[in-house]
Amino acid sequence: MYIEKMYINGEWLTSADTIEVFNPATKEKIGVVPNGGQREAELAVSAAFSALPSWSKRTAAERSKYLMKWSQLIDENLNTLAEIMTNEQGKPLHEAKGEITYANDYIVWYAEEAKRIYGETIPASHPNKRIFVQKQPIGVVAAITPWNFPAAMITRKIAPAIAAGCTTVLKPSEETPFTALKLVELAEQAGIPKGVINIITGDAPTIANVWQSDRRVRKLTFTGSTEVGKILMRGAAETVKKVSLELGGHAPFIVTANADIEKAVDGAIASKFRNAGQTCVCTNRIYVDKSIVKEFTQKFTEKVSCLKVGNGLDEGVVIGPLINQEAMDKVNNHIEDAIQKGGTVYVGGNPLKELDGYFFEPTVITDATDDMFCMYEETFGPLAPITTFDTIEEVVERANNTPYGLAAYVFTENIKEAIQIAESLEYGIIGLNDGTPSAAQAPFGGFKESGLGREGSHFGIEDYLEIKYISLGL
Ligand code: ADP
Repeated sequence: MYIEKMYINGEWLTSADTIEVFNPATKEKIGVVPNGGQREAELAVSAAFSALPSWSKRTAAERSKYLMKWSQLIDENLNTLAEIMTNEQGKPLHEAKGEITYANDYIVWYAEEAKRIYGETIPASHPNKRIFVQKQPIGVVAAITPWNFPAAMITRKIAPAIAAGCTTVLKPSEETPFTALKLVELAEQAGIPKGVINIITGDAPTIANVWQSDRRVRKLTFTGSTEVGKILMRGAAETVKKVSLELGGHAPFIVTANADIEKAVDGAIASKFRNAGQTCVCTNRIYVDKSIVKEFTQKFTEKVSCLKVGNGLDEGVVIGPLINQEAMDKVNNHIEDAIQKGGTVYVGGNPLKELDGYFFEPTVITDATDDMFCMYEETFGPLAPITTFDTIEEVVERANNTPYGLAAYVFTENIKEAIQIAESLEYGIIGLNDGTPSAAQAPFGGFKESGLGREGSHFGIEDYLEIKYISLGL
C-alpha cells in the first residue's frame, strides 16, 4: 500500500538512510521513505530540465490527454488513496475521499485550461509593425507542500504546471509522503513521460536550498507556514525566481444581527472543524453581534458537543487526530492562555487521554478578548473562541487587524450589509453565508502575509507562464 521510494527521471529509488512515517491516530509507525538530500535534489532538477524541451513542445491537447488519464486513474484508486491519507494524516475517511475528489478537480480543470492559454495581438503605433503577445511555460517548477492536504496541495500545483508545459520537482511533507507517492505512481501509469514529475522525500531545508539556488528552477511554489514561506521567498531572490506562496491565515467569522443563525452555526462548524481545525482557511475567531450571542453560542455548542472524535477509519467519526504532539501542545497553550486572560471554556478543553493518538476535544471558549493568543495566532486545531461586537465598523476593523489575509466568513441575510462587509475585509477569499468556499474553478490565495499568487481557476495557470512580446517589423 505504501510506496517507500522516490521517483526521479522515471526511476523509483531507495536510500540507505530513511525517515519514519507515523499514523497520528495510533502513533504507530506505518512505513519509511528515503531521506533524500542534495544529490537527489540536484538529480531531480536535472531530470526536469532535460524533460522540459519535449514536454513544453507538445500540443496543449496532448498534455491535456495525459492529465485526463491521470485523473481517471485517481478516480479508479480513490478508496486506496483515501485510506493511505487517513492512515498518515488522520482525517476521517469520508473527508479523505472528499479531498481526493477535490484534488482531482484541479487535474480536470487544468487539463481543460491547458487548451485556453491564449495570447493577444495589440494595435501597433506604426503601420509597418505588428505586436504579438504569447504565453510560454516558465520552465522547471519546484513545489513544496504541507501535510494538511496531502493530495490537493500537490495537484493544485503540479496540474497547472504540467498543463502549462512546465516540468516539476516536488517535495511533499515528511509527515504525509505516501499519498503523494501514490499520486505520482498513478501519473507514471498514465504515461506522463519521465522527468515531467519528479518527487523526492528527505530533509526539507537541504532540498529547498538546492532548488532555491539552482538557476534552472524558474518557479517556486509553496504551501505551508508564513515563517518558512518567508525563508523561501528570500532564497528565491538570489536567482529571481517567480514565487507563489499559500501561507498561514487567521480567519474571522462574523455573524451579524441579520444572520440566519442556523445557517451561521452550520457554516461555523464546517469552517472551524474540518480536518480537526487544521486548514489555513479554518475559522480562527468568531465575532457575534451582542444581541444574538446567547442564541448562537447555545446552538453552536450543542452541535460541537455531538462531533464524534476518533480514528478516521471508524464509522461516524467526524474529527480525527491532530498531526503530532507539537500540534496538541499548541492547542493546549492557546486554551490555557485564554483561561488566564478571562475566557470561559464552554465545552471541551482537554486532550482525549483514553485514545492512543493525538486527539483533542472540540472546544468552544466564550468571552474571548483580542489579546488572547488564539485571537491572533493560528491555532491549527479544534478550538473556537467566541467574542462579541457592537457595530459593523468595529468588527471589520478588528477582523482586519492582523498580518494575515487569507479567508474570512460573513453571515448576514441583509444584502447591503453583506456587500459592505465583504468589500471592506482585507482577505483573498470571502465566504458570504458559505463556510466551505474552496473550489477548483475559483481563485484561492491570500492578501498581506498570507501569500502571493492564486491557485485554481483560470488565474492559477498564469503563475506558471511567462509573457513574451514579439514586435514584428514588416
Ligand atoms: P506546516 O505548519 O504545514 O508543517 P511548514 O511550513 O513547516 O508548515 O511545512 C510545509 C512544508 O515546508 C513541508 O513540506 C516541510 O517539509 C517544508 N519545510 C519546512 N521547513 C522548511 C525549510 N526551512 N525550508 C524549506 N522547506 C521547509
